[in-house]
Amino acid sequence: MAASTRFAAPMAQLIDELRKLPGVGTKTAQRFAFHILRSSDRDADALAGSIRALKAALRLCSVCNNVTDVDPCSYCTSPSRSQRLICVVEEPTNIAAVEKTRTWNGVYHVLHGTLSPVNGVGPEQLRLGNLWPRLADAEELIMATSPTVEGEATSRFVADQARALHPDLRVTRIATGVPAGSDIEYADEVTMTRALENRRQI
Ligand SMILES: [Zn+2]
Repeated sequence: MAASTRFAAPMAQLIDELRKLPGVGTKTAQRFAFHILRSSDRDADALAGSIRALKAALRLCSVCNNVTDVDPCSYCTSPSRSQRLICVVEEPTNIAAVEKTRTWNGVYHVLHGTLSPVNGVGPEQLRLGNLWPRLADAEELIMATSPTVEGEATSRFVADQARALHPDLRVTRIATGVPAGSDIEYADEVTMTRALENRRQI
């Protein structure tokens, strides 16, 4: 349902836009919109400007699909990281969970999603096309997708495809130190460190 016609058109339009944000329902969207209306011109401009700047400055790394303002991103060009160890994650935010451990010295590949037949997400919706050429020089591919049904299915699919292309490639899965069914985004540092250290070949 579109935002109520009880509001003036610009207000209704803002409420409609805010409702598209994850976790924001109509009530919250209305609260945000009225807060913005009451805020100073400067604050409102800063909010609008930072949204525009974000879209103008950020893009996906052409190598690993991480969100970046330079392409390739700083991980992909880092001389102190092994470009031959590739950690596959679901979302750009998952990189932070791995980085927090300070034990990972490789690079990443961000899928921007997981396989989910119920939601109509197939392999073609994942950002996999630029992963396959990277495997030619890779030493290990670590599947760090979440231990959810979708995360496990995605891990299996990517691992199978990778092995079909490169039978000698070492493919591993992070240990289930990350609580089953949870998102790796919420794993604490100790849990994530253990999950990485105890990864097993699949
Ligand atoms: Zn990158």
